[in-house]
Amino acid sequence: MMEVCNCPRCGKIFTKIKAPLCPACMVEEEKGFERIKEYMEENSGCNISELSEETGVSVKKIISYIHEGRLETTKGMQGDVRCQSCNKPITIGRFCASCLLEINNSFGNLYSKKTHDSESGRQKMHITPHKLL
Ligand SMILES: [Zn+2]
Ligand SMILES: [Zn+2]
Repeated sequence: MMEVCNCPRCGKIFTKIKAPLCPACMVEEEKGFERIKEYMEENSGCNISELSEETGVSVKKIISYIHEGRLETTKGMQGDVRCQSCNKPITIGRFCASCLLEINNSFGNLYSKKTHDSESGRQKMHITPHKLL
């Protein structure tokens, strides 16, 4: 059965196969992404709002590209993207290096605990760092 839905970008009805947007918007998105990359290469000091104005791609979208690891911030964007755990400025992804390390460590501890003493290691562990202040 085919899944039909409204494109979240332009509102047109389309058949959802794999892409989250209608085919026309997917092309537009790709073009936008290319424009962003080009503009960043030529203007290494640009900030996100300038980039958004110049390329017609929303600030939200640009930040989501950075979160996904498809883009890395320029010098001019310093502070525009922040670690989702400790709020420190970052250049790519969702977390800063030290939070990533902390997250990896908690996963590692959890894992080794499980393998080493699966019987007694049943206490709850909080993986999410609570450092939002
Ligand atoms: Zn669309
Ligand atoms: Zn952090």
